[in-house]
Amino acid sequence: MRYTLLLIFTLLTLISCKENKEKKERQKSNGEKPSSAQLISEMDDNEDEKLSINEVKGPIAEDFSNIDKDDDGFLTLEELNQVEKNQPNRPPRGTNANKDLSSEIDTSIKVVDVNTDFFISENIIGGIQKQMVELNGIETLCYVIKTNSQATEHQMGPWCPRHIEDGMEKAGIWFKDDKVYDVSGHFIANLDEFYSDDKWKLYREDGTVKVTDTKEGCIAAAKPEVDEEYQNYCVECLPEYFKDQVTTFVIPVTPKYLKTTQSFGRGGIGIAFNGVKYDPPAPTHAILAAHTIAPLDDHGGHVNPHGGYHYHAVTGSTKEIAQSDSHSSIIGYAIDGFGIYGLTDKNGNKPTDLDECGGHFDDVRGYHYHAGEPGGNQVIKCLHGLSGYTEVKE
Ligand SMILES: [Zn+2]
Ligand SMILES: [Zn+2]
Repeated sequence: MRYTLLLIFTLLTLISCKENKEKKERQKSNGEKPSSAQLISEMDDNEDEKLSINEVKGPIAEDFSNIDKDDDGFLTLEELNQVEKNQPNRPPRGTNANKDLSSEIDTSIKVVDVNTDFFISENIIGGIQKQMVELNGIETLCYVIKTNSQATEHQMGPWCPRHIEDGMEKAGIWFKDDKVYDVSGHFIANLDEFYSDDKWKLYREDGTVKVTDTKEGCIAAAKPEVDEEYQNYCVECLPEYFKDQVTTFVIPVTPKYLKTTQSFGRGGIGIAFNGVKYDPPAPTHAILAAHTIAPLDDHGGHVNPHGGYHYHAVTGSTKEIAQSDSHSSIIGYAIDGFGIYGLTDKNGNKPTDLDECGGHFDDVRGYHYHAGEPGGNQVIKCLHGLSGYTEVKE
């Protein structure tokens, strides 16, 4: 989808439309992407402020049903924003879901099947099923795993402190420049210094912290274009708001190593053994632009309206399976079926030969990933295998 969107944006900057030409030239020259609102205003022929399949073409048409989350046949500003929000900051090198990758498979690399015994079975809805699924032109036997994406082996939260005098045990963590910071009342009170920007003020005169403490507040503040009234808020969505959502993970039983790395597609990048989703990097630019922060809890997770509780960092809180040698424990699976392992081995050493995705291979485990440092805002950086996908049913 990332690749698709880049194509869309490129396409749009190339479409010639008299009224907007000057504006587009400007965007082109400073490298800015058109916003979702601009996308709509430029393609919306009948001016109903949403896009039908007849109004779009090229990649946006090809990916129409994926972008149209509620399947009503129209792409709304909100749906396009959702895609834009999932756009990572670095340029795509991978491929989209429609590309045929059969010629990319490299069978010379040892791979190890997904072991479903590692999952906490009470957290899986209806047991793990097997199904043939076409992934990028390749018929692939996949596990279908449905969960409510809720942690059971550790508490979820806390995230935001309630008063600027609250200690760090009342709140979670935040990160900047690869470093993890404990959030406390003091941390919230000093965000203006932390970001060298005096527009930060997440607390009231009486010292109480402005927290989104309703489901409505959470939804309004968790959008990429944060509602005016929720700017300068500590964003905290509770797991119970979205506890009935079902997340489906479709993961190849036997991972297929590809010669080229792949960017993340729609949805999550993997699953922990408790059934909670590992998500791509949190969109910190969008969050900070509205002077909001959405702290992670001490376990590296927080909640959003699209899939509930999910992790952006691995902190060693979830179920892991120790290895018989000195290698670090396995903590979950990536969406391509390769195992994700902890960063440090039993002797406290970190691997030194990781590739650009955070993976490498050995004779026991075949190709596998190691989770990044918690402050890095990415569990793994890309995929080296044929990707399955996740879906969320609200
Ligand atoms: Zn998140
Ligand atoms: Zn390893």
